[in-house]
Amino acid sequence: MEDYDLDILLRDAGLDTIAVRGGQRRNAEGEHSEALFLTSSYVFPDAATAAARFSGEEEGNVYSRYTNPTVRNFESRIAALEGGETAVATSSGMAAIMSTFMALLQAGDHVVCSRDVFGTTTVLLNKFFAKFGVEVTFVSLTSQSQWREAVRENTRILFLETPSNPLCEVADLGFLAELAEAVGCLLVVDNCFCTPALQQPLKLGADLVIHSATKYLDGQGRCVGGVVVGRHELLNEVTAFMRAAGPTMSAFNAWVFLKGLETLRLRMEAHSRSAMDLAVWLQQQEGVERVYYAGLDDHPGHDLACRQQRDFGGVLSFCVTGGMESAWKFIDATRLVSLTANLGDAKTTIVHPATTTHSRLSEQERELGGITPNLIRVAVGLEDVADLKTDMERGLGALSGR
Ligand SMILES: *Cc1c(COP(=O)(O)O)cnc(C)c1O
Repeated sequence: MEDYDLDILLRDAGLDTIAVRGGQRRNAEGEHSEALFLTSSYVFPDAATAAARFSGEEEGNVYSRYTNPTVRNFESRIAALEGGETAVATSSGMAAIMSTFMALLQAGDHVVCSRDVFGTTTVLLNKFFAKFGVEVTFVSLTSQSQWREAVRENTRILFLETPSNPLCEVADLGFLAELAEAVGCLLVVDNCFCTPALQQPLKLGADLVIHSATKYLDGQGRCVGGVVVGRHELLNEVTAFMRAAGPTMSAFNAWVFLKGLETLRLRMEAHSRSAMDLAVWLQQQEGVERVYYAGLDDHPGHDLACRQQRDFGGVLSFCVTGGMESAWKFIDATRLVSLTANLGDAKTTIVHPATTTHSRLSEQERELGGITPNLIRVAVGLEDVADLKTDMERGLGALSGR
């Protein structure tokens, strides 16, 4: 089969088919699994071709900071999964966010950002982009009036994550896409928590989607990486910055992420199923005050999540009775789940947000954001859910002194 046929064939294919087949360019060796090109540079057949590649007259590989076939394979596959025209892969999720901002912002521009984005995103804007004259206003993810009031004449980007970490709040992407269009700025969505298996922001009107591939795209906790997906016109700018600045994805990591994508939907369905099961169970336990999971119908984002997402994902959080001491006791009594700040792994992880992922915030900011001292976040993995409950019972037992 020619490459050309593959593109045509996949144009109307379903998500699972694209996840398994998208972007592969089979070589003369006839390899079935995607080839891993560990090469920093490429040999030109003759001097005229070298000149043509350098001038951009002819497409083709020059150097792996610019292009690499394995990385390109990953980029094509994730672009197709998100329903975007193209993608550029980066060395980490933060490199994807940084490169997008570097490419699309300049001094005097303004960003409106949801308050509960990934902590390092806040640092990037507050500490570093501020140095170059980029202003930022933080708003509540779910308050439409705050988004509306925050936009100004110089607003260039609306940036958010939905659902949020760790309280699973849900933003209305349709509303934000309309707002961005009305004021003439870009809507950029960090789709890390849902992945295209559960939510496709570009189809809801977003201009760019960003991922930390480190999380669910890999799904097995092996590699750090990121990607930006969207229209050619915008991605050309991001790619130009990437080529000049160099935070590109390694070919090896791209190969691992390609393999991760093949099982993306199966994994996201399993994460969601187990998280739902655990959330319902936790709600019934003595010692648990409150559970935050958009799959629960008492969650304020439930109806919107039902409309906007295919499922509710693997992350949930809950408050135990008592304060920080209780939360720490609970966490320290667990044996199976891993105490680590990462998420999106086959292995379930547990963390105390107030003293780890959200410790950089002031007490007031944490209170405003609902990051109470008794809050625990769990990113549900792929273990048997019965064993996860047994482990959570160890935590609950430590609270009651059982
Ligand atoms: C982890 C994470 C990032 C940063 O990604 P890295 O790969 O760690 O650089 C950005 N956004 C969200 C939502 C994340 O969870």
